[in-house]
Amino acid sequence: IVDKDASFFGQPGGLQTLFFTEMWERMSYYGMRALLVLFMTASLQEGGLALTVASATAIYGLYTGAVYFMGLPGGWISDRLLGGQKATWYGGIVIMLGHIVLAIPSTASFFIGMILVVLGTGLLKPNITAMVGQLYGPNDDRRDGGYTLYYMGINFGSIIGYLVTGYLQVEAGYHWGFGAAAVGMALGLIQYRLTLPKLKGVGAKPPKPLSAAGMKRSWIVIGVLLAGLAIITALALNGIIIIDPIVVASNVAIVFTVIFFGYYASIFLFGKLTKNEMKRLGALFLVCIASTMFWAGFEQAGSSFNLFARDLTDRMVGSFEIPTTWFQMLNSIFLVIMSPFFAALWINLSKRMINPSYGFKSAIGLIIMATGFIVMFFASQAAASGLKVAPYWLVAVYFIHTVGELCLSPVALSAVSKLSPKRMAGQMMGIFVLTYSVGNVVAGILAGGLDPENPAAMPELFWTIFLFGVTVGAIVFVLALFTRKWEKLPPDDDNADND
Ligand code: GLN
Repeated sequence: IVDKDASFFGQPGGLQTLFFTEMWERMSYYGMRALLVLFMTASLQEGGLALTVASATAIYGLYTGAVYFMGLPGGWISDRLLGGQKATWYGGIVIMLGHIVLAIPSTASFFIGMILVVLGTGLLKPNITAMVGQLYGPNDDRRDGGYTLYYMGINFGSIIGYLVTGYLQVEAGYHWGFGAAAVGMALGLIQYRLTLPKLKGVGAKPPKPLSAAGMKRSWIVIGVLLAGLAIITALALNGIIIIDPIVVASNVAIVFTVIFFGYYASIFLFGKLTKNEMKRLGALFLVCIASTMFWAGFEQAGSSFNLFARDLTDRMVGSFEIPTTWFQMLNSIFLVIMSPFFAALWINLSKRMINPSYGFKSAIGLIIMATGFIVMFFASQAAASGLKVAPYWLVAVYFIHTVGELCLSPVALSAVSKLSPKRMAGQMMGIFVLTYSVGNVVAGILAGGLDPENPAAMPELFWTIFLFGVTVGAIVFVLALFTRKWEKLPPDDDNADND
């Protein structure tokens, strides 16, 4: 059934519900994330945890990796047990509780709060994103534009988050910042509840529910796993078992990558796919590879670019010093400004019957992102001379990276929703969110090779990332020529005209 409802900027009204819920969820996520490393490394007198930079950045990497990793079980729970609506609702509640716990000043509450945010986000993020796609019929070409609009909401949320928590941290302390994140999520939940009817039943039920007995067994297993997690957390907090975040973080990229390939392969082998579904998922695989590479470069924003801003950029404008974190916010600001143009571009191209394939757009996004590293190459060469460089370098990089992001990221979400079999919509979005996870962790590892004390080594690293990104982008580009026709196949073999 094609829903011709166009009550939210030409998009289905249900997009309004999902747009604002995700906006507030992202406000809480990015707002809290912005304070995380600062809080962990601040001294006890300053109200921090006095951890070393190496431990704090390892915990940061693990946290951002885990948040997105949990999308995998979160997507499965939606497909087989809860449906997208309930998964989003309960996920949001758990996130809010996590931020409330974070607002309590103690080491134990800090780690418990983070675990709750990880679990809640795993439940919410892939499922709310999958529901966006379910607002559209299979041939509704508003889907790409809809995801671009939704993605704009994500970035509105992050701007609010950076501003509010950053302000509160300076004026009142870290825990007020974390508290603000809880308030943001609460607003999102209220809004979600009030506007739920606009979804018109999308995500109301799991698309492929387990039998009643199967559901019961699954809940028991989930309960046991959560109890195990609670016990390990309690033991670690009491120092009975020692978890070294640096050791764990360095192995996690490999584990997540193996799980990504394993899960994808198991869907191919055991997912009872039609031939066309296999080809469609093959085309999507290419998009996933591009996405992983993209985030591995892009997510240097929080690490190497952040250090570059802090230590090597001249941030004085007259007597005002630009706060380091403002540079990261540039990405979201550029994104919000440019989104309408990109949404219009996709609609315009499709009206002219020029529909660049998902693989093609992802390749372009990746290549554009990689070229940003040429700018970083020159910027870091200038900085290696010992003088701080002008802020425009980073402004230019963030601009280029945002253009790349708009070609790849919202488009890839649309690709996942279009190319995945409906019965596994949540899980496939979970797999896709895992590309964020691997990308974030790899970005941390790459940036770990940087030493702000030794800026002479920076140009080489940035040049290598550029070469690597462009090479993978070019390969994706060529392969996209082959997967293009797979993207267009109907899911069902019987209706296939060119199978
Ligand atoms: N900014 C996007 C989001 O929050 C993508 C995040 C990412 O690390 N891939 O959804």
